[in-house]
Amino acid sequence: MNIHEYQAKQLLAKFGVAVPKGGVAYTAREAKNAAEALAGPVWVVKAQIHAGGRGKAGGVKVTRDIEQVGDLAKAMIGTRLVTKQTGPQGREVKRVYVEEGCEIARELYLSLLVDRGPGRVTIIASTEGGMDIEEVAAKTPEKILKVAIDPAFGLLPYQARALAFALGLQGKQVGQAVKLLQGIYRAFVSLDCSLVEINPLVVTRQGDVIALDAKMNFDDNALFRHKDVEELRDVDEEDPIERVAAVDGLNYIKLDGNIGCLVNGAGLAMTTMDIIKQYGGDPANFLDVGGGATRERVAAAFKLILSDPAVEGILVNIFGGIMRCDVIAEGIVDAAREVSLNVPLVVRLEGTNVQKGKAILQKSGLDILSADDLADAARKIVTAVKEAA
Ligand code: GDP
Ligand code: MN
Repeated sequence: MNIHEYQAKQLLAKFGVAVPKGGVAYTAREAKNAAEALAGPVWVVKAQIHAGGRGKAGGVKVTRDIEQVGDLAKAMIGTRLVTKQTGPQGREVKRVYVEEGCEIARELYLSLLVDRGPGRVTIIASTEGGMDIEEVAAKTPEKILKVAIDPAFGLLPYQARALAFALGLQGKQVGQAVKLLQGIYRAFVSLDCSLVEINPLVVTRQGDVIALDAKMNFDDNALFRHKDVEELRDVDEEDPIERVAAVDGLNYIKLDGNIGCLVNGAGLAMTTMDIIKQYGGDPANFLDVGGGATRERVAAAFKLILSDPAVEGILVNIFGGIMRCDVIAEGIVDAAREVSLNVPLVVRLEGTNVQKGKAILQKSGLDILSADDLADAARKIVTAVKEAA
């Protein structure tokens, strides 16, 4: 789960992380009021959407005239902001964050994430902040610093100090950076984050180290123990189909292609997506209905896939282990009848009660293409979708 920048800053501030003062606003009037509560002499109006790249897209405006704050907010609220991360359709700006501006001397990069290599929370830092960190990593990998943290000890003071020095910080900035790093690490661990990214982390003209931007992602599987974080969820920022999937207990991720996939087991789902690609198709989604799915769950998954207008064909790939093929087949038939299926459907069943399952599909009278193995299934759906189009 993601949250907005201003929410991330509020959470991080509780852990002693230095952030600018600010206030959230849903209207121009609220933005003006928020600005009046700040000292100035510089104010920043920032569009709050769950995507980065706002600066270059006009979603971050700096002004020295407090009278302008309302107008800047008015120009953003209600518009769709298109950034490098939103896709061409952009995201509607429903709220802005009005902050006390600062004079920037240096822009650094800092993030914490779970690095699966060492299996540890890892700090990534760079002197090249403010810009595209992926580009820095690709072109000048030596400018990316990495420190893996031993969970038994946590972030040790010497590690934090070494990082501060490596970032070129001096004097009181070192102490400020250590406090900030330790605060972010504590927030990361105690809130079950999967990512905290501060880009840029700035050194101001006055020589202070502060987090000018903040992005926080949370591990969905741990949200049950953070009700206060869960309350920060903004459903307007989430894919509506993914939302329904979460409620139904399905693992669904929307993708850019046109072939819907209904699979049991994450590994099989990955393989199915790969093989569709291999045969020249593009998956519309990743969908794992789980190992012990019921007939109802399969039907729900089926409807979910079809609610995506981009879907032009469906590939069902089920290995019946715990889940029996006849149960799956009944779920598919139920759902296909209910939604009056109008795109090609290929089903590949294997495992327990496979003959029963195939018989149910055949007797249904529905237009279902049966496949014998993975490659056959992928080939059939890719061809069927092409022919239908
Ligand atoms: P992003 O583009 O969505 O990542 O949004 P950021 O919060 O990172 O803001 C983009 C850029 O706006 C930053 O890299 C800064 O250069 C600039 N910016 C943000 N806040 C301030 C501020 O208080 N003062 C000044 N001068 N620039 C700012
Ligand atoms: Mn940023």
